[in-house]
Amino acid sequence: MKSNKRPSLTLVAAALALACAGMSSAQAAAKIVINNLNAPGVGFNDPTPAAPVGGNTGTTLGQQRLIAFTHAANIWGATLTSSVPIVINAQFRPLSCTATSAVLGSAGATQVFGGFPGAPKADTWYSYALANKLYGSEISDSPGAQINANFNSELGKSNCLAGSSFYLGLDANEGNNIDFVATLLHEMGHGLGFQTFTNGQTGAPLAGYPSVWDHYLLDNTTNKLWVDMTNAERAASALKPGGLSWTGPKVTAAVPSVLTATAQLRVIGAGAASSAGDLYAVGEADFGPKIDKSPLTGQIAAVALQPDSPGSACTPFNAANAEAVRRKIALVSRGTCGFAVKVKNAQNAGAIGVIVADNAPGAVAGMGGADPSITIPALRVTQADGAMIAASLVKANANPMGTVGKFERSKTLISGADAARRITMFTPNPYQPGSSVSHYNTTATRNQLMEPSINADLTHTVTAPTDLTLELFKDIGW
Ligand SMILES: [Zn+2]
Repeated sequence: MKSNKRPSLTLVAAALALACAGMSSAQAAAKIVINNLNAPGVGFNDPTPAAPVGGNTGTTLGQQRLIAFTHAANIWGATLTSSVPIVINAQFRPLSCTATSAVLGSAGATQVFGGFPGAPKADTWYSYALANKLYGSEISDSPGAQINANFNSELGKSNCLAGSSFYLGLDANEGNNIDFVATLLHEMGHGLGFQTFTNGQTGAPLAGYPSVWDHYLLDNTTNKLWVDMTNAERAASALKPGGLSWTGPKVTAAVPSVLTATAQLRVIGAGAASSAGDLYAVGEADFGPKIDKSPLTGQIAAVALQPDSPGSACTPFNAANAEAVRRKIALVSRGTCGFAVKVKNAQNAGAIGVIVADNAPGAVAGMGGADPSITIPALRVTQADGAMIAASLVKANANPMGTVGKFERSKTLISGADAARRITMFTPNPYQPGSSVSHYNTTATRNQLMEPSINADLTHTVTAPTDLTLELFKDIGW
């Protein structure tokens, strides 16, 4: 690289009116300044009266939103170090939604820089805020906010995750609502550097140069790093669920203290193919008891008239199904209703555990939902694995021992990590623009701040042994 400082590229259009900007700042090891871009009367300026909630003393909706933002900025500001203030342009505006899902927020760096004095990796893009920190002073010839952040103003309307809303308390006690502070911490995380600027869909690096992330992204089936791949190889690796690992030493060292051993389902007995039991990959539930060191063991019974097509369990069990699952592990099918509804119906029928089999092809994933009255554990398996388990039930039909399931934790594998115990990234197939690659895998347990969805059990801690976000920031130069 010839120049000391590569010309900046603007990634996000910055034609934003500043006339109505209100500023509030958070004093810490890094100073984070919130630049409120909402017009009077809306978003962060919404004058709707609001009652104090969860330690948030604002008296209007807008005030409470800004107080929550300042709270989140203080958390990042106390965690990171930079001699250059970090300015975040922030606003509420409509983002994409449906009746059952919503983009809560989106954020990213406004500019990227490479080839500057202080850059740990040569010829490599860094986010604006991180480049400023590494450079030690303002790096841009056209300085501005380092981060753009948007939050969904439509959330809770009938066409936008109807009935839900941002919880504005500061105590992570959001109940069935969505924790705004966690959402803010997540979006700020992207803006601070939790993103690659390489296009994961085409594999093309930004302007021909890699991002700092690309030095740490490894295809764990070909054992090649993104920086050493062709565009086609990168794009292929972004479509391998569990196949793209983060190799940074800080994250990897912290993985065993943050993530739990992988939950798995072992199927033993007359229907199993292997005498040691058949092992199935599972997703865990956000509700009910965790699979801990004392594994659950019990006979498996399918909920349906036909054991090879388990029922959806969306309504209270009829007498035949209740008789079938009593003191057993119920095998039910995904679909029609929420995961927690199925598990509660099985529990009410006397089941001791639940296996939810997917009703469509895809990678194994966790189960969202909440119901504090659920006291039995549940695991989710793929559609193909569900069919194999159902087949083992049929095979063992005449055998009094039946087919036995064991909910247990692996002695070698860590949830969300590869066989070498490195965390993996979110790489679903098909590709999800805006989500793929630039998040941790949804199979990580405990849930991580930088997974693509905001999970109900997140705390506001961004450091190990709770969370791996800061460790990744250390890997890339923070
Ligand atoms: Zn995100």
